[in-house]
Amino acid sequence: AEEIFRLSDKLSGVGQLAAGVAHEIRNPLTAIRGFCRLMEEGSTPTQMRYLQIVQSELSRIELIVGEMMALAKPAVAVFRSEIVRNIIEEVVTLMNAEALLHNVSIQLDLPKAPVIIQCDVNQMKQVLVNIIKNAVEAFHESGVIRITLRSKEDFIEISVEDNGPGIPEEDLELLGKPFFTTKEKGTGLGLLVSRRIVQAHGGTLHVRSKLAEGTTVLLRLPLNFEPAMDEND
Ligand code: ADP
Ligand code: MG
Repeated sequence: AEEIFRLSDKLSGVGQLAAGVAHEIRNPLTAIRGFCRLMEEGSTPTQMRYLQIVQSELSRIELIVGEMMALAKPAVAVFRSEIVRNIIEEVVTLMNAEALLHNVSIQLDLPKAPVIIQCDVNQMKQVLVNIIKNAVEAFHESGVIRITLRSKEDFIEISVEDNGPGIPEEDLELLGKPFFTTKEKGTGLGLLVSRRIVQAHGGTLHVRSKLAEGTTVLLRLPLNFEPAMDEND
């Protein structure tokens, strides 16, 4: 049966603590990266290969730490009136190279009339990049991603649909958990970060998936959202 899963708030106390610690990890990482660069000079080809591995693993740690920090202290959203179509098109332009590399084509189904919402354009782009990236990464061979924008009475709907392998039922309930990933190089934080951003925009993020048929991520964002005053500490 088709499984509809609503990401619920599963960021545990441990997740919060880890996010706080993430900040402290950043400085030593910068030092390590700097010394790696210095060591490259005069190193043998074998040492060079090892240094490249060290640096690519460093990049991975930086990615995880960056996402954890985004969770711990989300950047203050700057709300402006934005044309949703433009945001989607800009993100797709950005993602097309990676999609082509994976033999994935991205199809757009966007209304002609401009749809405008109040949002932080960079955060919205981050959400779309995370979702589209997941779809691209899900395909084993080639595939199609279909992005649809619909304007309803008082909200808009953006759906990102792929015909990839889908998500097993037992994994669907783990989607909202910090660090849940099925990828060798995944962080398991992308959906969580995305959901946080969407919530801060008064919206919702749903994942619907069926094995061997594909996955649809549905974003709903209110048309007339009154952002709350900044209450970050
Ligand atoms: P990451 O991409 O780093 O693994 P995410 O939070 O973005 O972390 O995604 C968590 C997991 O959800 C992925 O590892 C994958 O198993 C699953 N997933 C997300 N989107 C899709 C999709 N479109 N198709 C199949 N699986 C998906
Ligand atoms: Mg991801």
